[in-house]
Amino acid sequence: MKYYSTNLKATDATLEEAVVKGLASDRGLFMPREIKPLSQEFYEHIEELSFQEIAYRVADAFFGEDIPADTLKQIVYDTLSFDVPLVKVTDNIYSLELFHGPTLAFKDVGARFMARLLGYFIRKEGKKEVNVLVATSGDTGSAVANGFLGVEGIHVYVLYPKGKVSEIQEKQFTTLGRNITALEVDGTFDDCQALVKTAFMDRELNEHLQLTSANSINVARFLPQAFYYFYAYAQLKKAGRGANAVVCVPSGNFGNITAGLFGKRMGLPVSRFIAANNRNDIFYQYLQTGVYSPRPSIATIANAMDVGDPSNFARVLDLYQNSHEVICTDISGATYTDEQIADTMRQVWQEHRYLLDPHGACGYRALAEGLRPGETGIFLETAHPAKFKDTVEKIIGESISIPAKLQAFMSGEKQSQPMSREFADFKKYLLG
Ligand SMILES: *Cc1c(COP(=O)(O)O)cnc(C)c1O
Repeated sequence: MKYYSTNLKATDATLEEAVVKGLASDRGLFMPREIKPLSQEFYEHIEELSFQEIAYRVADAFFGEDIPADTLKQIVYDTLSFDVPLVKVTDNIYSLELFHGPTLAFKDVGARFMARLLGYFIRKEGKKEVNVLVATSGDTGSAVANGFLGVEGIHVYVLYPKGKVSEIQEKQFTTLGRNITALEVDGTFDDCQALVKTAFMDRELNEHLQLTSANSINVARFLPQAFYYFYAYAQLKKAGRGANAVVCVPSGNFGNITAGLFGKRMGLPVSRFIAANNRNDIFYQYLQTGVYSPRPSIATIANAMDVGDPSNFARVLDLYQNSHEVICTDISGATYTDEQIADTMRQVWQEHRYLLDPHGACGYRALAEGLRPGETGIFLETAHPAKFKDTVEKIIGESISIPAKLQAFMSGEKQSQPMSREFADFKKYLLG
């Protein structure tokens, strides 16, 4: 498969080049030349297949030309060693729980897949060490750090905004050591992302070091997220509710929802998508006005969605050939304040005994407000509520327990490197 750049100025790349480079040389995002529809037969029997079987069929459509079948199958099966259950919350709203992986957030899927795929390319080519740079507003860092921990030939640098991630999140990527280094940046998430983007464009740095990204700009992290949309549909179909499915995705950088849109392009019978935002409502405003105006992010209680200039917006535009009108036929938007998010969490806990995290709460609420008669909604529950323990407890007025997987991180000792938001400092550190 060839990959082109959304800026249309770089030459096509192979999968290996796209994964190793992360970003195209013209600063665009890589897109596969072809999005292959899956067969009628697959959709007819999808509810009889396991998550791993479904995911392998999807992975084969994306990566089958470039990776031997047995290797790809192994990568998929190793990545998905946990379940992604669909849980009924109300009569017409289901939660797709994406938080049963090692760091209890959906990013585990993409991060684990990418680590294994990159590891395969490094082994195959006997490449020199690859340095993965990742900017995080919380959950990306932990998922990537844990996904890549101990993978030979790869060093990971996690850049995170000082004081703007929860203690549990921070512990998940600052306590690991080995091939993982945490950089505590005196700035916002957007500053972290700018440092990473600038590093990829810096000639001198790239002459000395092999750099790549593990943000959702990397195709190896972003495309595998399509897997669970298919499995969600399979579970809904099995429950006899497969018709008129609406999928609602709590969105920040828009990698997750874009993977779902790829699924729809492959024939997945989802009638429409809803992108749920917190107060960082750049995409919502775009849907209303047709004008995209990025602006600095603001801090909210759904902090993994505090993004002021979503990277994958370029992919959404490209997928729909820049047509605002067509985008609006497939996707609608919603935006919620912290108060609305908190009210939703409280109400759903009291009425349905289902505990939402602040991100999932945006997704639930957008469905509760936006579903039409005859539709069934699935929202992606993108993280376990215990990852935001203090916020959640304050809102529901009860204490919640921390899963053992998460508790294990808390006993580790934080090790991080302070960093300014100046690129010159970051560059000097990497070269030193
Ligand atoms: C990353 C993240 C999001 C946003 O996902 P995008 O792919 O960036 O849109 C939502 N919720 C949680 C918990 C996350 O970690």
